[in-house]
Amino acid sequence: MTPVRQVVVNSLDDVQFELTARPVPGPGEVLVEPTLVGICGSDLHAARGVHPFISLPYRPGHEVVGRVAEVGAGVDLPLGSRVVLEPNLACGECAPCREGRYNICDVLDVIGCQTPGGMTDAFVVPGHRLHLLPDDLDDTAAVLVEPLSTPLRAVRRAGDLTGKRVLVIGAGPIGLFILLGALRAGARAVVSADLVATKRDRAVEFGAIGAVDAGSSDAVDRARELLGAPADVVFDCVSRESSVRQGIDLLRKGGTFVTVGVAAGPTTIPLDLVQDRELDLLGCLMFVREDVEEAITMLREGGVPVAEVITAEFAVEDAGAAYAASADPEQVKVVVRVRESS
Ligand SMILES: [Zn+2]
Ligand SMILES: [Zn+2]
Repeated sequence: MTPVRQVVVNSLDDVQFELTARPVPGPGEVLVEPTLVGICGSDLHAARGVHPFISLPYRPGHEVVGRVAEVGAGVDLPLGSRVVLEPNLACGECAPCREGRYNICDVLDVIGCQTPGGMTDAFVVPGHRLHLLPDDLDDTAAVLVEPLSTPLRAVRRAGDLTGKRVLVIGAGPIGLFILLGALRAGARAVVSADLVATKRDRAVEFGAIGAVDAGSSDAVDRARELLGAPADVVFDCVSRESSVRQGIDLLRKGGTFVTVGVAAGPTTIPLDLVQDRELDLLGCLMFVREDVEEAITMLREGGVPVAEVITAEFAVEDAGAAYAASADPEQVKVVVRVRESS
């Protein structure tokens, strides 16, 4: 049988292929043939060797759309059906898992981060990590299901956003999706903050009432002016000391601060203000099944301008060029095509 190609990332400018035997699904497992695979901010961090939980070399691909090619015993998925991967692997037994928060499982692994991913001709995953795709959601939209799931969880973590004033710091894919999700959840106004002018413009196109230059000294004042009042909720997709400071400065008393971006390490926060203003400080990591289902629903409703988000597509043979492109701040989401959609 023909071997399968698997992309291996040694560094941002050293992306290779290895050939392995076509895997065979065991009981409960599925052999998936990917069609489209997205490259994520975390992939870029990993390729640069700065991701805290991914070590090089690694075999990427956690934003995966594909089809069922073979099933192991006990799997009830029709051959050829289109699926999207939910890449988190949880133990099901620890305290968070038992509370339904398996996204923060004590021994969480992520397919395509700690285990080989879907940037390959074929790979085996547990059947319960797959979601069947409805016919009215094409592969190009479906490749956004995984990257949309974390933002939708962040929005859900923030509680009822009806009538709320919101600041989203960072206007990459996660920040843009939080913006869309917050408006969908009923926020009255969302302001975006980013260092890059084209990203700010895109945030306004996506529905922000304005966007402020996060690098300017009056960013907080400008954002307050645009919102007409201090923010009720801040989503921080950047997670640096400066973004935490700006976000907390802009929050009203009793407001909510949601940390979404992966911080590079321990990061100073103005704890005096958290206490004095009785702020809620919330973390957010990945998602659970209902967030993924919500992402599928939102994409089916046309709630994401897919053509505006996917700014480049490369053939898997050019995976190295795809990685290089995804490092360009002008790109939003770069995807890799492994095979044609059927
Ligand atoms: Zn991702
Ligand atoms: Zn667990």
